[in-house]
Amino acid sequence: MIFTKINTAEILCVGTELLIGDIVNTNAAYISSRLAEMGISQYHQSVVGDNPERLTQALKTALERSDLVITSGGLGPTYDDLTKETAAKLMGRNMHTDKESLDAIKTYFEKTGRVMSPNNAKQALVPDGSVVFKNLYGTAPGIGIEDFENNKIIVMLPGPPRELEPMFSSCVMPYLMKFTDSVLVSKNINIFGMGESTVEECLRGLMESSTNPTVAPYVNTGEVRLRVTARAKTHEECEKLCDETIDKICKTEVGKFVYGIDAGSLENALLCVLREKKLTFASAESCTGGLIGKRITDLSGASEVYLGSIISYANEIKENLLGVPHETLKKHGAVSPETAVYMARGVRDRLGVDLAVSTTGIAGPLGGTDEKPVGLVYVAVSSKNGESVTKLNIAPGRSAREYVRYLAASNALSLARKEAEKL
Ligand code: ATP
Ligand code: MG
Repeated sequence: MIFTKINTAEILCVGTELLIGDIVNTNAAYISSRLAEMGISQYHQSVVGDNPERLTQALKTALERSDLVITSGGLGPTYDDLTKETAAKLMGRNMHTDKESLDAIKTYFEKTGRVMSPNNAKQALVPDGSVVFKNLYGTAPGIGIEDFENNKIIVMLPGPPRELEPMFSSCVMPYLMKFTDSVLVSKNINIFGMGESTVEECLRGLMESSTNPTVAPYVNTGEVRLRVTARAKTHEECEKLCDETIDKICKTEVGKFVYGIDAGSLENALLCVLREKKLTFASAESCTGGLIGKRITDLSGASEVYLGSIISYANEIKENLLGVPHETLKKHGAVSPETAVYMARGVRDRLGVDLAVSTTGIAGPLGGTDEKPVGLVYVAVSSKNGESVTKLNIAPGRSAREYVRYLAASNALSLARKEAEKL
């Protein structure tokens, strides 16, 4: 094998629906950011419809100017899926059935209880001499065609992002790293309670000056994740570089809002503490309507620590099932710190758990008043140390109801984790 080094790459997305604006090209954005992370330069990027002649031409042009061409889409079983066939023809390769892929497709259909059509077997056809990337979330495997004589590689990936993204990060990236002379390691800093712009303001200097590791922010409903990526000769060197930068970041103002490194999510961070300390947990939910329970029980292993929730939407349930006094509801209303505290205490007593959390608030879009506007939420936490209550003013924005409820649940999970740390 003649050693191939990848200097330049380009992305070619295949699909008529991309050309007519039916779908947004998120695959190009995803692959681009991962290539940048790997330090592989990109000077061109294109989209072509499901047409064999134009696809051949686009592939040819791409191969003339770049060492690596990554395609997305057109690996499916239907007549308009022709990326693989076109690339094989262009590279002068015959196709054969890849047994492992065919078995995987059969298993996939058995598992999902669907009938496999003869068309699906076509997805196991690969050009001779290809590298095959497993598809854990669908049927079409990814394919790499290597032409070391000419220092060219084509990588073909399935269109659906839920298949492409995990395939890229777990199979394609390690594969491509063989053709660069270093390794990459990424770690994530999970932040909650500080907005993206404030995080960026605090870290601007550090982010602008650091090229290795690089620090990139990602925002997702009230949370900020900083991806710290280091490049070096060995994995250990990368780890060291990442850890030094993470330490630096944690020593700034941002550090106060860090809830974990590679923690995954707020619910996962809470679950980890609860399991480590063998603490039981429950919730009493009004405005979140079970969302806290949903987010915790989405995680495997939740049953070890999470007992349940009382979704006390109506005042009678708050009174009868949680023991919120009638006078409290009458005097302060359902959305009040007093009610929140009784709810948390009530569910902790009744379910007999170590730690409980409650939410009560105005999710909107209707129902707000001057005194109690949409986005006003009280979250109370109850443990053997007593109760504490936090008032939130969640700026509702566009999808008010969904956003307010999601952020209320996020705050509850975060406050519960902080309390669990103390127990
Ligand atoms: P399938 O087996 O589902 O047919 P495929 O590999 O043949 O997959 P396409 O048929 O090209 O891929 O696209 C399938 C779906 O994947 C599209 O309907 C779209 O939802 C999504 N998709 C395709 N390309 C992109 C892209 N560039 N960005 C985001 N989503 C995409
Ligand atoms: Mg298709």
